[in-house]
Amino acid sequence: MNYQQYYPVDVVNGPGTRCTLFVSGCEHQCRGCYNQSTWRLDSGHLFTPQLADQIIADLNDSRIYRRGLSLSGGDPLHPANLSGVLKLVKRVRAECPDKDIWLWSGYQLSELTDAQRDIVRLVDVLIDGKFEQALADPALEWRGSSNQVIHRFAL
Ligand code: SF4
Repeated sequence: MNYQQYYPVDVVNGPGTRCTLFVSGCEHQCRGCYNQSTWRLDSGHLFTPQLADQIIADLNDSRIYRRGLSLSGGDPLHPANLSGVLKLVKRVRAECPDKDIWLWSGYQLSELTDAQRDIVRLVDVLIDGKFEQALADPALEWRGSSNQVIHRFAL
């Protein structure tokens, strides 16, 4: 798996202060996509075990409290990203039990495959659906267009 950016301290992508990982790879090709440079799976940098360790350490860093991890992209539920993302969310669940996980995907909850659902089962919040330029609204919280849905799961 490749990633575009990792922000160890982020106050924009989700509630509170968070760690945020933007993975590479997206097949949705939304018109008006804010970041087409994330579409290619081989763009960005290789996601290494060292970076996974760093994310876990950052989430548990008591000097700067982080509420949780945000996973965006690109698309964390792109088929090529599933094994890397599943491994990471399993680690966060096991090693950072008091942190929440938010995940943004262009796939809709109702159309997810079993392998994608294996990840979604482990997150607290899924914001789903493609970005629709005609429904874009900068006043929306945590989403770009009004067709996208914020699903909050009780784990
Ligand atoms: S899902 Fe997100 S990253 Fe993918 S094309 Fe749409 S807006 Fe861009």
